[in-house]
Amino acid sequence: MAMSEPSASGEILLPGATLGVLGGGQLGRMFTLAARVMGYQVVVLDPDPASPAGQLADVHLKADYRDAVALLRMGAMCQAVTTEFENVPAESLAMLAKHCRVAPRAEALAVAQDRLAEKTRAREFGCATAPFANIEGEADLDAAWAAVGSPALLKTRRLGYDGKGQVRVGSREALAAAFASLDGVPCLLEGFLPLEREVSVVLARNPADEIAFFPLAENRHRNGILDVSLVPARVSEAVAGQARDMAARLARGLDYVGVLAVEFFVLADGRVVFNEMAPRPHNSGHYTLDACATDQFQQQVRALCGLPLGDPRLLSPVAMVNLLGDVWRPEPDWAALLRHPGVQLHLYGKAEARPGRKMGHYNCLAPTPEAALELAMATRAALGID
Ligand code: AMP
Repeated sequence: MAMSEPSASGEILLPGATLGVLGGGQLGRMFTLAARVMGYQVVVLDPDPASPAGQLADVHLKADYRDAVALLRMGAMCQAVTTEFENVPAESLAMLAKHCRVAPRAEALAVAQDRLAEKTRAREFGCATAPFANIEGEADLDAAWAAVGSPALLKTRRLGYDGKGQVRVGSREALAAAFASLDGVPCLLEGFLPLEREVSVVLARNPADEIAFFPLAENRHRNGILDVSLVPARVSEAVAGQARDMAARLARGLDYVGVLAVEFFVLADGRVVFNEMAPRPHNSGHYTLDACATDQFQQQVRALCGLPLGDPRLLSPVAMVNLLGDVWRPEPDWAALLRHPGVQLHLYGKAEARPGRKMGHYNCLAPTPEAALELAMATRAALGID
């Protein structure tokens, strides 16, 4: 593969160029597929020899994300590199940025890695958040409890995902116990809000400051993990507009280039509250793979390459259902699922099914949102998802 000169950030990278992705999970896999379909070559860096993305890449560098030699190789092979998960070390991105285009920026990832930084920046950009307070040690508990009130959620500032690292607390004593149960790591205490719905906005922003929004997804979680996304979300245009406006403020405020997912709470009084963001395509955007004119991974390629963004228009109502390892008993009844013409199945190539592990998803397309949701529920039941 040809070695490349560092590309100026304004340059458009056309098919034939080599793109890199840090992380080889399912998001990296779907990025790899999209890029290869469009005629790009893809280098994946992931230590797992069986990684879902590595299987489909032109080159799979099997090394740690801090491995300087692997990063140098990646930087030499690629004209641009992106990430598929937020916990990539910022130093690795900085090292790569000396050799090729890196998007999103390390600073944006750093903000998304820390709930305190994320919510603080969101407020600075004019986004509404739940009341929150930083807790670095026991000495902060009193002030945090006084500031946030009850009930509240204690969340670890870092490495929390899919509801992990979170404890609901209803008293000052429970707060102390919860903080101790999280090993005293830095935490955020957050006011527990009466949620009517949870929605997300996935957007793409390119270096020319063009932003394309995918339609809002309405998300339902089970055990802290996304279960079903329904699109269009059952919210008013005013709610959707608030969510899009806040997502755009975050993207512009962070000078973000790439695909950004932003999760919001919708309260009964119509208020929309920022919850968190993911600096990458998102599980709640998987519906775009079958239901939009451009999907979130094609959009990630376009933004990374400095191309004009694709049309994010919704072509059909859709409900996305996640397939977790729990359904492998030992294998789901694929025939029962695939007998429905409106079902589109996506499996991630993971050999080992474990409870809670995301193994795949499917999209249910139907003429109306009600019918899409009905198909999702009926097929879930047929697969034995309770
Ligand atoms: P998170 O990891 O912050 O996305 O939280 C996981 C889930 O917990 C969310 O999807 C919500 O269902 C719930 N949750 C998180 N924060 C709050 C809050 N401040 N008030 C009510 N529910 C919350």
